[in-house]
This record gives sequence, structure tokens and C-alpha cells, in this order.
Amino acid sequence: MDRILIIEDEERLARFVELELLHEGYEVDKAFDGREGLDKALAGGHALILLDVMLPGLNGMEVLRRLRQHSDIPVIMLTARDAVMDKVSGLDGGANDYVTKPFAIEELLARIRAFLRKKGVALSCGRLSLDPESRVAAVDGTPIDLTRREFDLLHHLVLNKDIVQKRDGLLSAVWGYDYSGETNSVDVYIRYLRTKIEEPFGLKIIHTVRGVGYVVRE
Ligand code: CA
Repeated sequence: MDRILIIEDEERLARFVELELLHEGYEVDKAFDGREGLDKALAGGHALILLDVMLPGLNGMEVLRRLRQHSDIPVIMLTARDAVMDKVSGLDGGANDYVTKPFAIEELLARIRAFLRKKGVALSCGRLSLDPESRVAAVDGTPIDLTRREFDLLHHLVLNKDIVQKRDGLLSAVWGYDYSGETNSVDVYIRYLRTKIEEPFGLKIIHTVRGVGYVVRE
């Protein structure tokens, strides 16, 4: 069963979410400050992390930044209502999604389910299909030879279908936070992907958002 780590200093809220998750059949770990949360996250064994932004010890953004140097586990940030900056920096920092407090528990559960369902199972976007288990990408059933990085980039884009991905966010999600190479790597790899999965098949799913980044749409 999937184990979820809750990093949240409001203990009553953490307990409330824990009970709901247990009821849904998940296993749960909790941490009440950023440092403990990061330690537990790095120890591994979780399928997904719920990460509060305002935390004692290390704040949520810093936890995320350090975690992303080692792990691409799905992270849903819990942000204060209307804290637009939190959302933007969270997604820039490699968060997969965010939920604003106070949240409806059903909304949170739905997002968690969506991520865990998508994580290991085959994804598709129109004529493109991706299987993260075998790491095979195919168009109309024809397998495409992709490098590890190309696959990871495509997978991240398809996993976040219809959500614009900034270059910085893609770099940290796919290359890792400690990446110190060229920032145009994303553009270079997008070009590789277009050459391999779009041009030969007359497909158009990877769209450039000028000055921002990229989005995959059917
Ligand atoms: Ca908090």
C-alpha cells in the first residue's frame, strides 16, 4: 500500500489529514518540522509527500529544494490561501501540485489519487503513449528510441498535461537541482523530442509558451 508523508507543523491538521488517508487505505508518516520532514523524505519509502510551506526548522520551499537534489517523488505543497508567490515558487521549485489552505479534504484526496494512479501506470496523450515501468514511449504503437533524459522530460510534461511548465521547473524536475550546465538544455531536449516523436508522425503535442516554457496538449 502506498505510504504518504505529511510534513505539517499544525498537528491537528496533520492528524486530520492522517485519519482521512488511513481511512482511504494509505499508510501515513508525519513530520512536524522541516528538518525532520526532510530526513524522513530522504529516508525514502514514500509514494507521495504533502508539504506545508510555512514550517519551523526548514521552510517548505527549502525542504523541496533539498529533496529535489535527490528525489523526484511527487510533492503536493500546502500553501496559505492566496499566497500566489508560494504557488509559483513551489511549482518552480519542482512541486508537482499545490492545494491552498483551508482545503476541502475531498479535493486533496482527489489530487493524491490522481498522482498515485498516474505514477507507475501508462500515460497517453492522443497518439502518444508512455509506460514508465518499461520506459517505452510509442506513437500509434510504434516504439520510439529515447534517451533516459528525453524520456524523463517527456514523462514529466505528459504527467502535467495542460499545465505550463517553466524552464526552471523542468530543469529541477528532470535534471535535478544541482544541475549547473546550460539553461538552454531544456530547449535542446525539446528539439530532440520534436524530432523523434512529432516530426516523423505529423504530431503536434509539445507547445512552446513564449518567454515561459512548454506545455503538452492533445
Ligand atoms: Ca505551517
